[in-house]
Amino acid sequence: MSAVEPTRARTVTRNSEWQERKVAAIARGQGNIAPVYVERAKNAELWDIEGKRYIDFGTGIAVCNTGHSNPKVVAAVKEQLDRFSHTCVMVTPYDTAVRLAEALNELAPGDTPKKSMFVTTGAEAVENTIKIARAYTGRRGVIALNGGFHGRTLLAMGLTGKITPYKNLFGPFPGEVYHAPFPVAYHGVSVEGSIKALHTLFKVDIAPSDVAAIIVEPVQGEGGFYPAPNEFMQALRKICDEHGIVLVSDEIQTGFGRTGKFFATQHSGIEPDLMTVAKGIAGGFPLAAVVGKAEIMDAPLPGGLGGTYAGSPIGCAAALAVIDVIRDEGLVERANAISARFRERLYALQTKYPETVGDVRADRGAMIAIELVEGGDAGKPAVDLTKALVATAYEHGLVLLSCGVNGNVIRFLPALTISDALIDEGLDILETCLAEVLR
Ligand code: PMP
Repeated sequence: MSAVEPTRARTVTRNSEWQERKVAAIARGQGNIAPVYVERAKNAELWDIEGKRYIDFGTGIAVCNTGHSNPKVVAAVKEQLDRFSHTCVMVTPYDTAVRLAEALNELAPGDTPKKSMFVTTGAEAVENTIKIARAYTGRRGVIALNGGFHGRTLLAMGLTGKITPYKNLFGPFPGEVYHAPFPVAYHGVSVEGSIKALHTLFKVDIAPSDVAAIIVEPVQGEGGFYPAPNEFMQALRKICDEHGIVLVSDEIQTGFGRTGKFFATQHSGIEPDLMTVAKGIAGGFPLAAVVGKAEIMDAPLPGGLGGTYAGSPIGCAAALAVIDVIRDEGLVERANAISARFRERLYALQTKYPETVGDVRADRGAMIAIELVEGGDAGKPAVDLTKALVATAYEHGLVLLSCGVNGNVIRFLPALTISDALIDEGLDILETCLAEVLR
């Protein structure tokens, strides 16, 4: 008998002791931001095993948009569990998968008839968009954008435009993947400049007639919470139309009401050819999907897409409940109200600390960020300060996440069901923590 009983023991009640066991038992590559071991979570709050309470501005990285353990999602999952938990949609399917596909086809932007297919994680959804685009076009190349994040599997990682921590040590990367600049006005990259660089890429690296797909996040997530300007999305649409390229919008972090539209692509008014969804789709259950124009979606042969757990009945039941909650509780509109509440406070913080709070991004619903710099200079990322702020926030009972190619962006992703009182309390903690780390 070993000293620990990994399958049953729950006698340890200290975060630090679990963290020690975690470090010894789980590979270091799967790091964790804070040594906070969760006992329970409800809506926009969680409690650790030491009884400490946290306000959650991270929602498990944009997953629990409808709040932790939303009662309607929990009820739908319990009901499904009582019926069955797995049969495999590719063997003997079930109604929830069909109903969810119908709902997604209806919700996806644009009038072109749609179809969906299910997988389990975001990275898998991304990989499948490339398979589908290649099958449809008979072409090989894929273009992604600098700073983009598309997942940790090999092709998705190849598409990702951020080295640390995602790509270090993992090469060689899949071939026929190219990167173009993503426009970020704050860092001096204009829409015009990005599109010009894309045309250069077409001249020097790959002819547009060899490109199967261009993949873009309508708001870059891990890369730093930079919204793709509407003109950029429209320009990509035009280029794809001109050259018969499949335009893929990666809505994994931006989807399900998060940005104040059901899908962030809708801000620019374009219709993508394919769209990935995951994270917020199922309120915390592993489910992802590709939704796209039916003609393109049907290019792969039967059996070419799927997976054992693709479209798990539990995930589908949860997702149907999530969609109902978003609609019934007006959460898309709520995302905009959340944005307004954060915006006011964050701009006040910028006025108070103009040298530090370089940029506030709060015009895409509840996908909100501040970029921390030194001396008010966009070119001098305040990386250590950002790390210190995140660590201090946990000490003060606030779950905060950072992001950004340079790791100097604090992102706010509260549940869309969070109360105004909790937002205010969380922002008070943020302000206290910023003052503390700047002291
Ligand atoms: N694309 C985007 C835009 C994401 O934000 C993420 C996850 N952060 C992924 C893909 C990968 O999703 P998953 O972690 O579920 O594989």
